[in-house]
Amino acid sequence: MVTGGSKGIGRAVALALAGAGADVAICARKMAELEPVAEEVRALGRRSFAAACDVTDGEQVSRLPAAIAEALGPIDILVNNAGASESHKFVGHPDELWARMLEINLTGVYRVCKAVVPGMIERKGGRIITIASISSKVGARYVAAYTASKHGVLGLMRALAVELNSYNITVNCICPGYVDTPMTDANVANMAARTGKPEAEIRKAIASGNPQGRLIAPEEVAAVAVMLAGEAARSITGQAINVDGGAVTF
Ligand code: NDP
Repeated sequence: MVTGGSKGIGRAVALALAGAGADVAICARKMAELEPVAEEVRALGRRSFAAACDVTDGEQVSRLPAAIAEALGPIDILVNNAGASESHKFVGHPDELWARMLEINLTGVYRVCKAVVPGMIERKGGRIITIASISSKVGARYVAAYTASKHGVLGLMRALAVELNSYNITVNCICPGYVDTPMTDANVANMAARTGKPEAEIRKAIASGNPQGRLIAPEEVAAVAVMLAGEAARSITGQAINVDGGAVTF
């Protein structure tokens, strides 16, 4: 199960997991954008299931595991990927923006884990992989709420890693730097609107924050998710693996 599986990193993870032999359930708010990805999964020879689900809606989330179980079987691998990023300087920071970031990036993951973990405990096995961020480890200007939410989700995953270890459930984070996705496109457009600088210049500045001088491809993040989902990774838990070109070294 991949949340936010309709585009960007989530789509790449869904396709990579399918390529590695998994049947894949994807969810996001817009059903019309999920269906083409579900079709791409089927084209890889795996079964797929797409569900419209907003991870900030407890009711919708609680119904998801049973719907997926009926369509594909129980959830062995959960990839918490759905997320959002908005920026604002701290002085005059809108409270709604603070609440929104925590709601989707932290409480959304809490909610989805709460719905999925009991089944994993029952079956004594599972993989939980959360797409966190290097903002889970370091601070940056104008992203107080996003950074707090991503630090929080890393803490949540570390706690679950300890608590669920005896059930053969591993829990890890992947911490990307800037990835070339629609989210980054939107961030670039916002920065361009705010600063009056051309988008190309902003993309260049973002890329230069990566010591390798480029945006990361979603497939690079997906490859780590596949590794963590595999049997060979059964001893890896409670980790936060950076995929950031070496920008952060802890
Ligand atoms: P995108 O904005 O490109 O895609 C986000 C996905 O999440 C879409 O499928 C979207 O679909 C879905 N989504 C958004 N809100 C909700 C919601 N409330 N409920 C369910 N699904 C939702 O994001 P990226 O692929 O760039 O990012 C994916 C994850 O990676 C996020 O957690 C992000 O914080 C993290 N990340 C991204 C980085 C980057 O540079 N792009 C860097 C580091 C981390 P829909 O709108 O239809 O709901």
